[in-house]
Amino acid sequence: MLNEFLDFQLNNQIADRFIKPDRSNREVIRKMGYAFVDLITDEVLANHDRDFVKDNSALKLDIPQTGIGWEDLLLEMRSQVLPRSLNLNSSRYMGHMDSVPLAITIWADALASAINNNMLSKELAPLFTQLEADLMSWFGRLFGLGDKSFGTLTSGGSLANITALLVARNYKFPESKSLGLNKNNSKNYNENKLVAFISDAAHTSFDKGMNAIGLGSKNLIRIETNSSGQVKLDILEAKIQEQINLGYVPFFVGAIAGTTITGAIDNIKAVGEIAKKYNCWFHVDAAYGGAAILSPSWKYLLAGIDLADSITFNPQKWMWIARTCAMFLVKDRQNLIDGFDNTLPYMADNALNFGNFNLQGTRRTDSLKLWLALRSLGLDGYSKLVDNSMTKAQELRAWVDDSSDLELVCEPTINIVCMRSRNPHIDNATLRQNWIDRGKLWLSLPLWRGDRILKAVVLHPYAQWD
Ligand SMILES: *Cc1c(COP(=O)(O)O)cnc(C)c1O
Repeated sequence: MLNEFLDFQLNNQIADRFIKPDRSNREVIRKMGYAFVDLITDEVLANHDRDFVKDNSALKLDIPQTGIGWEDLLLEMRSQVLPRSLNLNSSRYMGHMDSVPLAITIWADALASAINNNMLSKELAPLFTQLEADLMSWFGRLFGLGDKSFGTLTSGGSLANITALLVARNYKFPESKSLGLNKNNSKNYNENKLVAFISDAAHTSFDKGMNAIGLGSKNLIRIETNSSGQVKLDILEAKIQEQINLGYVPFFVGAIAGTTITGAIDNIKAVGEIAKKYNCWFHVDAAYGGAAILSPSWKYLLAGIDLADSITFNPQKWMWIARTCAMFLVKDRQNLIDGFDNTLPYMADNALNFGNFNLQGTRRTDSLKLWLALRSLGLDGYSKLVDNSMTKAQELRAWVDDSSDLELVCEPTINIVCMRSRNPHIDNATLRQNWIDRGKLWLSLPLWRGDRILKAVVLHPYAQWD
């Protein structure tokens, strides 16, 4: 009796939250799904409204004692959540490296959530472990890293850059993995200060990484860049020599393919040659610009990337994959394995466990949407999409050149156009707000060489500004 009563109570509380073993409530779950699909299609993807955020007021958490049915929650999503969210689906949004997602990657993410496998280990994600491994080798070969290349997906480029610093440190000083960098632990490496080099236009994740691996952000030597944001090679080499003369040990040199503010691409080949000359790990942060590899017309911009020991690349940016989707690639898979715990990827049980060489443990299956997007568009589709965003950026640049009120901040390298107001009566911040308020354009306002400038990242395939 009591059991039956408890069953009844539980059933009432959790009704239609899970599918019952007899599948009797399947239609309710389906109806809920269709309602979400309608909401996503009509109110999110088809939202070309000129208000980028309609409502800036705060939303109360309001967690109830008794649960609420999905119909009411769906209405709340429509009336409360969507108006307060930034609309990246607008063709007039071009502020950051945040793209409108390919539709198939949205549905693929829902499928991945439903399957809910865990990238921690092969037994928790049998197919997706193999899929991710195959994709990593495929991307490695695409970037010219060769047959031994490998990698792991990460939940962002920051984590990939932090991993690069960790793997590089452990490559140079394998003992630091177990002994750390304390002075008394070892004769080999403790006497010397380890230093890393990257341009002053590099992403802040390199500072985070130096902090995380115990070397400290002051030991990241930032190298001056030219007017577009490319690292100055003579200064890079001079700084490396200076540190060596001081008795310090350079272990890491990074090049950037698509800097966060101006989209500049370092002379990757030359930076790589300098890294090798001084026996340093060579990392390329191609979080943004890596997608140029997909375009036969533009991949020359990445010349020299095949020299990299490791690469960061974010398909969640210029490959239009729904967040999150980023990767850390290495030229030699053994370096990734050694960078963590020395466990061979193929152990006795032949299992490849991504949790063994990723800073993350439990992880979503971000491979599914990436694979589907590649298969859906094909390489031709991707090259056309990348080329289209370059063409659109050139059109935007021409619009800036033609405008008497605007001027370029620097020559664009890729689909990032930085501009500023030429009108003495209106500064960049005011102009930006004015455009946002009028629904004309959503640009970002980064700090560049001491000034706030206007940045457009032309990712929307239907981007418009007139
Ligand atoms: C976006 C970006 C990052 C950081 O990636 P997240 O996914 O935001 O962590 C790092 N480096 C460059 C060059 C980037 O453009």
